[in-house]
Amino acid sequence: MTKRRHTSQFMLGNVGVGSEHPVTVQSMTTTKTRDTEKTLEQIYEIASNGADIVRVTCNEIEAAESLVKICARSPVPVVADIHFQYKLALAAIEAGVQGLRLNPGNIRNEKQIKEVAKECLNADIPIRIGVNAGSLDKDILEKYGDATPEALVESALLETRYLQDVNFNNIKISVKHSNVPSMIDSYRLLAEKVEYPLHLGVTEAGPLPGGLIKSIAGISTLLSEGIGDTIRLSLTTDPIEEAKYGRQLLEYLNLRERKSLDLIACPSCGRAEVDVIQVASEAQEALEKEGFPIQVAVMGCVVNGPGEARSADLGIAAGKGRGHLFIKGQVVKVVKENDMVEALVKEGRLLAKEGIEARLAAADKNAANIAAQDAKELIDSQGDINDFVKKTKSVIEISTNTDIEN
Ligand code: SF4
Repeated sequence: MTKRRHTSQFMLGNVGVGSEHPVTVQSMTTTKTRDTEKTLEQIYEIASNGADIVRVTCNEIEAAESLVKICARSPVPVVADIHFQYKLALAAIEAGVQGLRLNPGNIRNEKQIKEVAKECLNADIPIRIGVNAGSLDKDILEKYGDATPEALVESALLETRYLQDVNFNNIKISVKHSNVPSMIDSYRLLAEKVEYPLHLGVTEAGPLPGGLIKSIAGISTLLSEGIGDTIRLSLTTDPIEEAKYGRQLLEYLNLRERKSLDLIACPSCGRAEVDVIQVASEAQEALEKEGFPIQVAVMGCVVNGPGEARSADLGIAAGKGRGHLFIKGQVVKVVKENDMVEALVKEGRLLAKEGIEARLAAADKNAANIAAQDAKELIDSQGDINDFVKKTKSVIEISTNTDIEN
């Protein structure tokens, strides 16, 4: 991972945005904003699934009115999403939102944009300039002939200048595109030109699994280059999923502390002693319910299982009719095959209560010997995979040795 790109900073409610703060997750409600209770209910669900910031459409005066109560009761900062009508931006500021998102493609009047910026300055709330390839400023689209990265960046810079003209600098920018390479190029280009924080997303990514793959490809590429300060996975699914996947992505990239389960599992192969796919999915369901913020491994056999997953906090490797429960690669208990998932849950609870050292000290002394015996039997019957690796290397070396005459 490249060091995070330096940016300016600001506060969005109680959430810090910019390179001195953690990368944060955003999602957007799908309820009618005028329905205060339903919108708040969804905001609570989105927030409890990992979103740090929530965006809410402000598309009518009833929505702006509802925002008064929503902002007062929301557990996370609320950003009002504004299209076409700048007066709704002014109403949303009055209602108490913690941030605004303006689309330069459909609020194009310089005077109106500056009026909104001045009000945001007075209220001390930031603005995201949300450029979108699908709704690009039509003059810029005409000039470039297509929604190219240069066109998206020009639109963002034009809007930035309007805001700077009235001394407004609490700016975040997004240049979203539905085409992943174009999205990546747009953000790279923008990152060279401004010091403002950037909000990442692949727009209109679509339903799962394609939408998720596109979003992860675009967002992860940029985050690994140090670009990006807030993210949203724009998926055609429940926003709770958006929040959950967004948070998990940041945890997997070590950009946020782990709060959720990280279940790793071997892909299974001909050596597997159990149906790894089924055991892994049962384990995922049972452990997610418990809310353990740990890494758990499910391995299909005992030959390489515990060793390969030694970094996991907890894991199980299937032996012949039984499972080897291990903590940090050390086998602590042997259980019946049918009890593997239950054993993971029980040990997970004890780990959460007592900690790793205490659970290693409480290990069944005989477990390691039984595990070693199972592994030996498996190697005797199936062969040592590590020997195969060595032999394969030798075969490759021999076959690529240029000294050997053809
Ligand atoms: S852990 Fe065992 S079953 Fe799973 S992929 Fe590796 S060798 Fe195959």
